[in-house]
Amino acid sequence: QAVWASVPEAPPDVIFQLTAAYKADKYDKKVNLGIGAYRDNDGKPWVLPSVQQAQERLIADKSVDHEYLSITGLPTFTSSAAKLLLGADSPAVAEDRVTSVQTISGTGANHLGAVFLSKFYAFNGDRQIFISNPTWANHKAIFNSVGIKPVDYPYYDAKTIALDFEGFTSTLKNAPNGSVILLHACAHNPTGVDPTKEQWHAIADIFLAKGHLAFFDSAYQGFASGNLDADAFSVRYFVSRRDIPVLVCQSFAKNAGLYGERVGALHVISATKEQAKAVTTQLSVIQRSEISNPPAFGARVVSMILNDQKLWAQWNEDVRTMANRIIDMRKQLFELLTNKHKTPAPGGNWNHIVKQIGMFTYLGLSEKQVAKVVNEGHIYMTKNARASVAGLNTHNIEYVAQWIDKAVR
Ligand code: PMP
Repeated sequence: QAVWASVPEAPPDVIFQLTAAYKADKYDKKVNLGIGAYRDNDGKPWVLPSVQQAQERLIADKSVDHEYLSITGLPTFTSSAAKLLLGADSPAVAEDRVTSVQTISGTGANHLGAVFLSKFYAFNGDRQIFISNPTWANHKAIFNSVGIKPVDYPYYDAKTIALDFEGFTSTLKNAPNGSVILLHACAHNPTGVDPTKEQWHAIADIFLAKGHLAFFDSAYQGFASGNLDADAFSVRYFVSRRDIPVLVCQSFAKNAGLYGERVGALHVISATKEQAKAVTTQLSVIQRSEISNPPAFGARVVSMILNDQKLWAQWNEDVRTMANRIIDMRKQLFELLTNKHKTPAPGGNWNHIVKQIGMFTYLGLSEKQVAKVVNEGHIYMTKNARASVAGLNTHNIEYVAQWIDKAVR
């Protein structure tokens, strides 16, 4: 039989292909700047001390069994995750207006949110979602898969290597009222370019005037500045402007280093407690047919960290450690290129490396320059010159700076 004879082969995922090429490379000075995962100063994955301690306690606890969680997940996890995101004193939480459902990390939260919108959102005209150009590649795939068309809004200006605020806000103003807009809560992937507080205020004003829905993706809380509260500013601000409908996808992959455990949540903020209750029932129906019950282990680890004073303090320190190492690597790369090598910069200077936020930096190199860095320098990054700053460390940063220097001259 040949029922699958007509199935065409799909192209491989760019990021995972890059990782495979890096692994196959035998060169001893090779560097992986493609991966979206934190590495310590020796280039190794880092198990956060807070996570280590929580999992040791969990494993030692003989009362922990392996039963199913409820459909919406571990209640102590979802409620404390909502407070982490929205603030311990969030009025929306106090008023029971928040529906929180545990998901398969941030990807699952995006997917569950997308399915929910596709079933229940009254789209004004086309079933579409506005996404930043560029964005995390999976956003397009996730919304396409539920029949919501991703439409780009201008975000990154290649000439200034910064936010195209004018293009972004004029698209928001010209979009049909009640449009769905995807926003990165902080540490925009892939550009590292975030709006300032003042710009967020202006963006929220437009949402309010136009009745737009904010679909936030929060995959890096704490990772941007090292402060969990500071990195939640955009989400909390939008929620405080009560009439903006807000939905938030939350991931603990990066900020807890729990990539493989798939810990995340979807939070939907409603206008009333009654609406929130109805939303909960519908999200449960969707979740039941998709995964039945979310996974327990990672959620237990995070719940313990969020609800134990000592572990909470340790986690805050761990988050600072990761963010600060990344910020430090940005400074060092900037210094090497600017002062040591005096490398000609694409936009006139290398300030963008220190200005950008979070795990990634958009270096501003051309595709040809990137090809040289990758093929001759064995330094792996995507064609758009997105480099994971977490892949830099004190042992390889001079080598990387030298190759950037060679490539642009
Ligand atoms: N959104 C964005 C913007 C991301 O960068 C990521 C991670 N690459 C995710 C969501 C989701 O990742 P995960 O499913 O591992 O939580």
